[in-house]
Parts: sequence; C-alpha cells; structure tokens
Amino acid sequence: ALAPVRRALLSVSDKSGLVDFARGLTERGVALLSTGGTASLLRQAGLAVTDVADVTGFPEMMDGRVKTLHPKVHGGLLALRDNADHVAAMETHGIAPIDLLVVNLYPFEATVAKGADYDTCIENIDIGGPAMIRAAAKNHAHVAVVVDTEDYAGVLADMDAHEGKTSLALRRTLAQRAYARTAAYDAAVSTWLAAAIDEPAPRRRAFAGTLAQTLRYGENPHQAAAFYTDGSQRPGVATAKQWQGKELSYNNINDTDAAFELVAEFDPAGAPACAIIKHANPCGVARGATMLEAYRRAYDCDRTSAFGGIIALNRPLDAATAEEICQIFTEVVIAPGADEAARAVFAAKKNLRLLTTEGLPDPRAAGLAFRQVAGGFLVQDRDNGVISAVDLKVVTKRTPSEAELADLLFAWKVAKHVKSNAIVYVKDGATVGVGAGQMSRVDSTRIAARKSADMAEALGLAEPTVKGSVVASDAFFPFPDGLMTAAEAGATAVIQPGGSMRDADVIAAADAAGLAMVFTGQRHFRH
Ligand code: 5GP
Repeated sequence: ALAPVRRALLSVSDKSGLVDFARGLTERGVALLSTGGTASLLRQAGLAVTDVADVTGFPEMMDGRVKTLHPKVHGGLLALRDNADHVAAMETHGIAPIDLLVVNLYPFEATVAKGADYDTCIENIDIGGPAMIRAAAKNHAHVAVVVDTEDYAGVLADMDAHEGKTSLALRRTLAQRAYARTAAYDAAVSTWLAAAIDEPAPRRRAFAGTLAQTLRYGENPHQAAAFYTDGSQRPGVATAKQWQGKELSYNNINDTDAAFELVAEFDPAGAPACAIIKHANPCGVARGATMLEAYRRAYDCDRTSAFGGIIALNRPLDAATAEEICQIFTEVVIAPGADEAARAVFAAKKNLRLLTTEGLPDPRAAGLAFRQVAGGFLVQDRDNGVISAVDLKVVTKRTPSEAELADLLFAWKVAKHVKSNAIVYVKDGATVGVGAGQMSRVDSTRIAARKSADMAEALGLAEPTVKGSVVASDAFFPFPDGLMTAAEAGATAVIQPGGSMRDADVIAAADAAGLAMVFTGQRHFRH
C-alpha cells in the first residue's frame, strides 16, 4: 500500500497559488524540495525548503538548463516503491523517494506569442520540467504529478480524504493531464520551429492545444464539447474579454470567429465596417461613414436573417451603434474595444454577450486550418490570400468604373468568407444579396438576387437593391449561365478568379451584356 505524501518537489514558472499550496503541504507534514526561483519565493513566505542543488550535489548551471536532471531527482520520481531491486538501488545510491511533483513549464507559448527573438524562444524551451513531469506521470502508481495551478486545491482535498495519501484515481487523472501538457508543449515548439524555418508545406507536425473551457455541449445538445486555444494569441474569440452575458456556446464561438475574421478584412483606418453572421455565413456586411451607418446598412441586407445574429465590428463599439443593436435580438457583439457609454447601453441587455479584443487579426497572417475526416485530419494553410486593384485583370471591353472597382474589391473580401458556392452582390460598400453554400453556382446567384428582391419589398423600395450592383463569385463561372443570371438580376460588373475552360464564352457573354469583368487569378473556396 502507498505511503502518505512525505516529500514533494516544486519547480514552477507560473508561481500563482504556489505559496498557499506549499503551506498546505507543509501543514500536512510534507517536506519541500525546490529549484532556485521557486525556493526563494517559498522561503520569503517563511516556509522551510531544501534546495534541489543540495540534493544533487550539483549547482544549477548553464543558465538553468541543468537544474534537476540528476539520478537523485529522477530516481526518486521513477523508483517503484514495491520493487526490491528499485528499493535496493535507492539505498545504494542515497536516493530518497519523491511522492509529489509540482511543475509548470517555462512559458514557451507566451514567449513566442510576445514575438520574442529566436534565441529567447530557444532558451524558453523547458527541458528538466517535461523530463520530471513524464517521469512522475509514468510512475503514477506511486507519484502524483501536478502541472496545472487549478489542481492544487484538489490534491490537498484528496490527501485529506485519504489519510495524507493521494488516491490512485487522482494520480491517474493527473498523469493523463501531465502527458497532455508535455505533448501540447512539444507541439508548440515544433509549430514554432516550422514557422521559423519557413517550412513550405505542413509536414510531420504535431497538433495540440490547451483546454480553455469545457462547453455545455457541441453543435447539438447530445455532443460533448470543449474549446482549446493554440497559444497563438491571435486577436479573436479565443483571446477576447467577455464583458457580459452567458457563456458562449460552441456555435457562438464558431460564428463569432467567422464574423471577426471577416470584418478584419476591412482596414479600420479606411472606414467603419460591420459584419453580421448567421450559421457561419454573412447575412450583411457594410462600410459606413459612422459605425452606426455601417451597422444599419449591414442589417438592411437581410433583416430577417440578422435576427439572433452575431455582429463583428472593425472599430470599437460606440453608444449610438450599441443603442441600435439593442433594437433586435443579437447573440454576440465582438469589436476591438467598446467605450464606457456603449458598455452602459448593453448592460441593460443581460443576455447579449459583448466581447472586446486587443486589435484585429491580420488577414494575411500565416497559420494552419484543420478539418477532420474519418480516421484523420486535413491540414492546410489558412486562406490568407488578399488581393488589391493591381492584381486584377480586366477581361471585358468595358473597364469597371472607380465606384464599381471599389465595390468589386469589397464583394471579393466578403465572398472569401462565404461558404461555397458563394455569390455576393454589393452596392456602395454594402452587401445587397448573399448566396451561400449551394451545390450549384446558378442557384447561389438566384438566391442572392431573390433575397435582395425580398428585402427591397420589405423596405418598400421601388426596385431591388441588386439593380446596379456588382457581383463576386468565389470560383470561376464554368458556363455563362450563372453570369447571365447575375446580369439579369441587375449586376453591372463581375469579379471572379477566371481560369475556366470556357472563359472565352463567359467573357463573350459579359461583353454582350455590357458588363465589366475582372479576374483575380485567386480562388476562395470555403467548404
Ligand atoms: P525556478 O523559478 O524554480 O528557478 O525554475 C522553475 C522552472 O525551471 C520550472 O518551469 C521547471 O520546469 C524548470 N526546470 C526545472 N528543472 C529544470 C532543468 O533541469 N532544466 C531546465 N531547462 N528547466 C528546468
């Protein structure tokens, strides 16, 4: 049978909660061993601590690269207490057992996220910490290993419930968490190195994240779910501050991400922009002279769908926009800030979640995107393709006017964030019809136009807003029919990748209809 916890080794970078935990251990008769910084903190708090250096007979050396890598430490962690050979080896070599290991690692992920230089990142790769964690976790039959400050209280409670021993159930749970931590840590190192050496294709990668939150359920109530962060600190839903409202759901997180990534395509230095998302697709995106105007114009694209939507802004939320948003039911608002007056407006709407971030994500930033298939993952670079006017090739007799060009580029940015087949009509910096997720491009073109007509009717307009708009298609028109449907709906200019076998037919049809058309040479499938 296992003995009570008598000796603990504590070596932590994140020192929060440590003193209380160590005091709790001392009160329960546990002797403390510790490394440099951790030991001095505990001594300051008046606790008795033995330095690991005094146990090993070696000073910490090489900038801390070698502190605990010693048989007196690893033997104490790995020895099987009920194995005569192991016990004899401990006696022969003067190794005392270590019953509890408390380690959290050098903050490698945070160092990378801060943009530290190469050498600093290298120095923040913890070696002795993971070695001890893995040793203690392997020997969970005898040793408890704690890698998360959140587990401190549970360990003391477990000891109290078991006469100073830890339970096997707890030790197993802690061992499982320990290997998850070291796996995530090494994955972060490998991912950072891959970026540092500019590896072109995602190869021989390991993927892991850190549990941020368990969720009430997944996409549907019968699916368990959790949210993991990747340590990248990319501004967005993973790093946002939530000011009010219930916990975000799985679908909320997914939609909030879609909304914020979309609105980030619009440079805040240009104009305020607003995107409203439902089921991961935009139902309205607009620029405005003010944020209020941008929101109203986004809302007017498809008021029906906007109900219960998720709103993202490219500039901080102001009170006037907040007031207007409160007129209908909205699930989430995310913005790079919200002034006090805006927050006061929302305070009355208890269920509305307000999230603020430190800035916008960079649409050009590199990164990986994942999708699961049966038995594996598909991994690709995130779609960070961004084009500007100079990248466009005019293929029709008519060149787009300046106003058309601005709208074409706007429509293209939106189309990138619409599920394929994506068709987006835009007029004066606002979407007026979005067709998403259809199996036929012609259907997306028709649906977007019909939604615009419905909206015009609801708003009491004389004609559909799609008249005189421009249209973006996320991939080429394989035949002239989709293009003609858009022209018949009233679009005057077209942006699309080009590259179809029948480009010549499509261009001829555009010329015959008096359309201006540009090719981007870049496709934005999104499935
Ligand atoms: P302290 O603040 O106590 O001086 O250092 C604590 C940190 O050192 C912990 O994050 C722990 O994982 C790490 N650590 C412990 N032993 C070693 C070692 O032998 N080599 C390295 N590189 N880090 C260690």
